[in-house]
Amino acid sequence: MRFILYILLFFLIYTIARAILFPKKMPQQQRNEPKLHGDETVFDPICQSYFPKNSALSIRNGNEIIYFCSEECREKFLKKI
Ligand SMILES: [Zn+2]
Repeated sequence: MRFILYILLFFLIYTIARAILFPKKMPQQQRNEPKLHGDETVFDPICQSYFPKNSALSIRNGNEIIYFCSEECREKFLKKI
């Protein structure tokens, strides 16, 4: 019967090791809270999506500042106006 115990033990260690090495992705609870501590999101009017402000490109259009996700979107916007 000792052989079965070894198998069970091995399986247990394997399961724990796998849980440590490859943790399941944490559920993204923060997805519904776009404004976290200084982690502001801005809207790109060209590709219609939100993304973090710290990775945004911006231009000033009169009194407002417009943010873009990439140089490409900024170019498109500049061509439109
Ligand atoms: Zn964009």
